[in-house]
Amino acid sequence: MSDTLMDYDEAVRRYDPVIGLEVHVELGTATKMFDAAPNAFGGVPNSRVTPTSVGLPGALPVVNKRGVEYAIRIGLALGCQIAESCRFARKNYFYPDLAKDFQTSQSDEPIAFDGALEVELGDGALFTVPIERAHMEEDAGKNTHIGGADGRIEGASHSLVDYNRAGVPLVEIVSRPIIGAGARAPEVAAAYVRSLRDIFRALGVSEARMERGNVRADVNVSLREGPDAPLGTRTETKNVNTFRGIDAVIRYEISRQAAILASGGRVLQETRHGQADGTTRAGRVKSDADDYRYFPEPDLVPVAPSREWVEQIRAALPELPAAKRRRLRAEWDLSDSEMRDVVNAGALELIEATAQAGTTGQAARKWWMGELARAAKERETALEELAITPAQVAELQGLVDSGRLTDKLARQVLAGVLAGEGDPEAVASARGLEVVSDESELTAAIDEALAAQPDVADKIRGGKVQAAGAIVGAVMRATKGQADAKRVRELIMERIQG
Ligand code: ADP
Ligand code: MG
Repeated sequence: MSDTLMDYDEAVRRYDPVIGLEVHVELGTATKMFDAAPNAFGGVPNSRVTPTSVGLPGALPVVNKRGVEYAIRIGLALGCQIAESCRFARKNYFYPDLAKDFQTSQSDEPIAFDGALEVELGDGALFTVPIERAHMEEDAGKNTHIGGADGRIEGASHSLVDYNRAGVPLVEIVSRPIIGAGARAPEVAAAYVRSLRDIFRALGVSEARMERGNVRADVNVSLREGPDAPLGTRTETKNVNTFRGIDAVIRYEISRQAAILASGGRVLQETRHGQADGTTRAGRVKSDADDYRYFPEPDLVPVAPSREWVEQIRAALPELPAAKRRRLRAEWDLSDSEMRDVVNAGALELIEATAQAGTTGQAARKWWMGELARAAKERETALEELAITPAQVAELQGLVDSGRLTDKLARQVLAGVLAGEGDPEAVASARGLEVVSDESELTAAIDEALAAQPDVADKIRGGKVQAAGAIVGAVMRATKGQADAKRVRELIMERIQG
């Protein structure tokens, strides 16, 4: 059964989209949130578990202090208040990947609340996403359905459960309803999750690898009649873990819900599942009623981070991505749009590392956004996948700066490095690519060219300086392009005048 859709542009003309994001991040602590089992991706199924991970009777949880510290880091980075005291709660539900039959989470006492994150869109527009809370919880295990199509439970003959992930620390960041984004709602959502991912990495709290599901978003979407109308009924699409997926889900839901509303129907409040083709499919119907029977976790004491500790954590926060971008833009003397191109090309870290390896930001940018961007495009790969390191790029630029390579020769050396021929120095000497700086060699070539073209020599003597171009050309041919044209021109004038 395929959904009726309204054209996206028409849908956002007629309705005002409202979105809400619940972003989960798996923390990179050494051990799990409430027990000493190792916290690592993968592993032999059910090898990274303790009795607590699977909630065996009598097993007691203990809070991971590092997990709390990471949650506070995230809260502070998002401008949140940090609770003086907060409790864990049991969120009760049954699912085979949750052996305990409850998830240890936080309900009305999150560790962090009332924050905001300003995100930058592709064209530089800024949008502030209001954040309601960030709370601590644990991940569930993983079910694998065998025998059905695309790993779905439908048609499966049996299912396997791996509890290695059960109890892995999570922080869930819940936005307030995001209003006012209009047609750009999909873009705002993707930019927001991307900013969060960059912040998690900068904070060192998670590798934040989307493809491993380290960061996953539940995407809520509703439509209303206009900016003054009450909020409409929302759907929640679960566990979207690509930026493109987030964008696609929101577009699809806007088009789908608009078609329902325009035909006089009502949007069902339900959980949906994003599909590989960018559509969503209905899951269970969900009501706002609290069907999880939350209650305070009796086996854990409240978490009461002292103000001293919170201030220590705040003081030790690293520079965050937005501030870093502003600083580097100024240091490298780039315009806003040049900096945006750098960020959009995924070249920021590479340029920074190249500059740190000993060249200017401008020179580093010229290579990564120019010759190397072209090389990546040609090979249909990402910049960081190219077979060249920032240190090699800096070394190459050093050879240009010291006059040993012209830009043109440097590009040939670069090709050699990309082809795996070694470091720039080595490639330059192996390929014999160095500026001919031996002036006697150059003057000999100049004299030969002047003798071969006496008419040109006369013209230059007669004051037609432009005529020297023909001699420069001849010298460049004689040196296989390895002379510095500017120096050759100077030498020609010296020969003629002297
Ligand atoms: P639940 O935990 O049941 O999913 P929440 O109240 O925590 O519900 O809300 C989940 C997310 O949905 C939050 O990010 C919230 O801001 C957002 N949200 C709430 N109402 C709407 C709405 N009408 N349209 C879009 N998003 C909404
Ligand atoms: Mg939810």
